Amino acid sequence: MTPPALPARARVVIIGGGVIGTSIAYHLALTGETDVVLLERDRLTSGTTWHAAGLMTTFGSTSETNTRNRLYSRDLFARLEADTGVATGFKPVGLIEAAADADRLEEYRRVAAFQRHLGLEVHEITPKEMSELFPLAKTDDLLAGFYVPGDGRVNPVDLTMSFARGARQRGVRVLENVPVIDVLTRPRGRVREVVGVRTAYGDIECDRVVNCAGMWARELGERSGVIIPNQAAEHYYLITEPIDGLSPDAPVFEDPAAYGYYREEGGGMMVGLFEPSAAAWRVDGIPADFSFGEITPDWDRMGPFVERAMARVPATLDVGIRTFFCGPESFLPDLAPAVGEAPGIRGYFVCAGMNSVGILSSGGLGRVMAHWITTGHPDVDTTGFNVDRFQAWQLDPGVRRARTAEILGTVYAAHTPGVQLRTARGIHRSPVHDEMVAAGAYLRDVSGWESADWYADPAAPGLSTADPSAHPSDPADLSAPSTPSTPGPAGPPPAGAGDPDEVTPGWGPQPWFRHWAAEHHAVRTAVGLFDMSFMAKFQVTGRGAGAMLARMSAGAVDGPADRVTYTQWLREDGRIVADLTVTKRGADDFLVVASDTAHAHVAGLLDRAIADADVTVTDVTHEVGMLSLQGPRSRDVLQRLTDTDVSHAAFPFRTARSLTIGGRRVLVQRITYVGELGYELYPSATDAPAIWAALREEGAAYGLRPCGLKALSSLRLEKGYRDFGHDIDDADVVPEVGLDFAVARAGGDFIGREAYLAQRLEPARRRLVSVLLDDPEPLLYHAEVVRRDGVAVGYLRSGSYGWTLGGAVGLASVAAGGETVADGAVEVDHAWIDAGQWRVDVAGREVPARVSLRPFYDPTSARVRS
Ligand SMILES: Cc1cc2nc3c(=O)[nH]c(=O)nc-3n(C[C@H](O)[C@H](O)[C@H](O)COP(=O)(O)OP(=O)(O)OC[C@H]3O[C@@H](n4cnc5c(N)ncnc54)[C@H](O)[C@@H]3O)c2cc1C
Repeated sequence: MTPPALPARARVVIIGGGVIGTSIAYHLALTGETDVVLLERDRLTSGTTWHAAGLMTTFGSTSETNTRNRLYSRDLFARLEADTGVATGFKPVGLIEAAADADRLEEYRRVAAFQRHLGLEVHEITPKEMSELFPLAKTDDLLAGFYVPGDGRVNPVDLTMSFARGARQRGVRVLENVPVIDVLTRPRGRVREVVGVRTAYGDIECDRVVNCAGMWARELGERSGVIIPNQAAEHYYLITEPIDGLSPDAPVFEDPAAYGYYREEGGGMMVGLFEPSAAAWRVDGIPADFSFGEITPDWDRMGPFVERAMARVPATLDVGIRTFFCGPESFLPDLAPAVGEAPGIRGYFVCAGMNSVGILSSGGLGRVMAHWITTGHPDVDTTGFNVDRFQAWQLDPGVRRARTAEILGTVYAAHTPGVQLRTARGIHRSPVHDEMVAAGAYLRDVSGWESADWYADPAAPGLSTADPSAHPSDPADLSAPSTPSTPGPAGPPPAGAGDPDEVTPGWGPQPWFRHWAAEHHAVRTAVGLFDMSFMAKFQVTGRGAGAMLARMSAGAVDGPADRVTYTQWLREDGRIVADLTVTKRGADDFLVVASDTAHAHVAGLLDRAIADADVTVTDVTHEVGMLSLQGPRSRDVLQRLTDTDVSHAAFPFRTARSLTIGGRRVLVQRITYVGELGYELYPSATDAPAIWAALREEGAAYGLRPCGLKALSSLRLEKGYRDFGHDIDDADVVPEVGLDFAVARAGGDFIGREAYLAQRLEPARRRLVSVLLDDPEPLLYHAEVVRRDGVAVGYLRSGSYGWTLGGAVGLASVAAGGETVADGAVEVDHAWIDAGQWRVDVAGREVPARVSLRPFYDPTSARVRS
């Protein structure tokens, strides 16, 4: 074979000619960026794309970015042929999603309301209507269906060829049979930057590379130190012999409870499977020459799932099976793709790990990536799928093997609140792990750490399950749910409940809510102790540290020593890229604390910011614990443990002190994330157990309770405190999310300042608001649609239960004019809010609510400053 002629240079090199690589090439060309070369190891589609089932379904996501990406893909697939001349095979035959049980019905109603708000046409239909649309399915035992008339199917190979043609027509070079061996980089400051790629036929210089190598992406990334922990898994479908009466225009049918999806193929039925427990494939590495490949099916393992899936459409049992197919598809540990620029290498972009939805995601992701590559930043919220969210331990073969088998099984599982993943648990250990377990912690995974969600505290008086009214101060009796829920466990979870299956997930109130409520009340009325050692902590030192952090931070972080500053880091365009605290401990000594989910992201931002040789960043997350003591009696407890005066005058809000507690020096910051007087203690990991014990011992007289993350969430949402990646994200700007108070407006030369000042002058058409349901019973989780005078104007970013306020509470992003009214002239201000009648759609039920720009709990922060 004649070696292909390679260009010496291109601005962008895309590695991988599957549906993702070609879509990015096409979208780069659409933006006008045509100095692009796509290199495919073998032939286009030869990886996973060639054998995909081609479902183009939009239903099922409560992520705005995902939903918009899917809607964009669907729309693009219908019109791509007109641009490129190559048909995609898109057929909008419709989708029916079956709800077989109460949990799924509740989930799909919530999803439907959310996606409708974003423009999806979706109807809840009866089993009879399902039968009329898809007569071959047995529907008498189903509760309902969700019908999306615009969804359908597409031909993955034709779609890829159409993308490639559209890219080529605009000048992109698409070269097949060119394996990329390595990405070439050179140092730039504390990070690296891309300078080219090495292929089997020579090098190509480039500024940006895009790793779209599908299931090979992890190994290619590892060669450059980029963490992409995707792992291939066996993925199955079968195709039957022709079935009489099966129309080629029959809708796609999905019954997740039966593990199956169904669509017509060549007169027969394709039955695709997402089994509850799957199998990873080639954990040791994907063969370099695996092209248009198949995996030998494991009939024994799949038999029971296949039987159950086929039973939903009994006609499939009456004909023979023409094809039983198993192919590899790559999955990431949290079922979201790896997208964006690698933190440690400038110009190294990734778009891989598609979790079985690469075809239907390809259009949207291609558009997002092209924008990101050409402008340097995304134009949508990417906090949930940014490649910088991963940690090195997730590359471990054992972790990948176990988690991949589990995560594929969650695709068709009911996503009921309280469901926990069981694999890859306990990777990190809090220094007070044993203490939490001994106190009755019900543990949950927090970025590889085990942390208490709540404490069963069986020793506490009045908390036996026999007495559900043990907490008469509960604002609502949630022990008698009116919303459908699965039955709770017979008793409380065991102390130190290590097995997540001990507690039944459910949409409605659960027996353990009483523990959660008690913790919440303890913090509001007495004092609570949280372990938050999982928070990411960085020590930043050196003569240039203050100037560097001041440039990065919208808040004034380089003022007097011992000052704690809550701040955002912005991009040049004013979008928020991080939300954290910076504590100035001395002239050249700072502590940066961010959430666990932002760990690698913040580490990457710090590394990239170091231009001065005299700045050192040390990740001290594992060396330093974090114990948070919160509540009106927290000062009393702290004072009993130290000789230093901790009165309000001596130790004011947002300051830090180095205290001696039981002979141990501990950094203590007076700061809160729950809206009370409170302190964060940063003992060394070695000292943390002794400090925990001392706090519990001295705190007993003040009603101290160990508290979990459930209480943290309900407390912070009553007070309207934001959580990056949930209520605020990298598509938000400061004025819209109400964080102006944290910006040092008087001066400073921080990144994004010009943009921020301009944004402040704009009318606020979108704002983050606090929401409180009038009815104490319905529960809020996330994505519930908010209506003003009957018009959908936004949705809940986060929801919880306000045990002090007496109803479900949350933060919602609302836009004046809403999604449906082309009227952007109105501002979201107090007058506009007060003039509206507010309701929240909770699984199809319109619940009256109060909405406010100020938090409902302690709006003046008098308690925090007390
Ligand atoms: C059975 C099955 C059914 C599916 N059904 C659906 C569906 O109905 N809907 C849906 O949306 N998704 C579906 N999927 C998922 C979908 O097929 C994938 O998500 C998608 O094809 C992934 O595309 P990709 O471009 O990321 O990867 P790939 O298609 O694997 O492309 C990666 C390319 O990179 C090339 N490459 C690798 N290494 C190098 C290198 N070093 N140099 C150069 N090139 C390299 C490979 O040869 C390959 O062509 C299904 C998957 C399976 C297995």
